[in-house]
Amino acid sequence: GGVFTLAAAQLLPEDLPDREVLLLAAFTVVVGSLLLQGSTLPWLVRHAGLPGPDPAEDALRAAELGDAANAAGLRRLDELVTGREPVDVIKRLRDRSMARSHAAWERLGRPLADQETPSNTYARLRMQMLAAERDVVIRARDDGTAPGEVLSAALAAIDVEESLLDRQDELESLEHDRALVPAPRGDRCEHLESAPVGGPHPASACEDCLVEGTTWVHLRTCLSCGHVGCCDSSPRRHSRAHFGAEGHPVVVSAEPGEAWRWCWVDEELG
Ligand SMILES: [Zn+2]
Ligand SMILES: [Zn+2]
Ligand SMILES: [Zn+2]
Repeated sequence: GGVFTLAAAQLLPEDLPDREVLLLAAFTVVVGSLLLQGSTLPWLVRHAGLPGPDPAEDALRAAELGDAANAAGLRRLDELVTGREPVDVIKRLRDRSMARSHAAWERLGRPLADQETPSNTYARLRMQMLAAERDVVIRARDDGTAPGEVLSAALAAIDVEESLLDRQDELESLEHDRALVPAPRGDRCEHLESAPVGGPHPASACEDCLVEGTTWVHLRTCLSCGHVGCCDSSPRRHSRAHFGAEGHPVVVSAEPGEAWRWCWVDEELG
């Protein structure tokens, strides 16, 4: 905002009374805000003992926020659906919404040793498709077979989708030097308050997937009974199903290096 303040002040009419005073005021605001951003804020953060930015913690909060936003979007869709819309359109809207929130949770887990997460697979294949599409559009441009506006609109549509693809990049190289737990908040729900807190709960398999012969992406351990189930990105979503069947509210991540807990009832991290 500071630069704009100064630029705006330069536009003041030359003959305005008190122009110098206004310029000085604007300059003071700019310098003051630069000083505050540049040195005072980090100093304040350090000396107040506040946590600095932590990409892992941010990713965890992003996943939680994404889930809440996703739920609101789906609720709105439920309100709007009249029953006359094509079923596959409604399914596509739901799938896209779920895929975004799954991708955020998948980013938290360690890269799987021998397989991609579903979001990674989608992004990898879709990127290749978009590259092929772009080639066709660029060939049409080189051949001069389509008007310029048509070409730019087609390229823009491809670019926009490419930029929206969920990518794993930012956390891929992240080394957790401690178990990933959310920063404490004062307003945790009763379930998180009363569920056990502790270190990581590593598990090696989804017990229900072993029975059904299905595969999983990431694992969650029930803190009421120790049941190990798979996450919502997994095809069978056994952790969610276990909550539905038993009503056990809180799970803890069973991924190595993670100790975050999740309340199914309140859809809250803690
Ligand atoms: Zn709760
Ligand atoms: Zn499972
Ligand atoms: Zn349980």
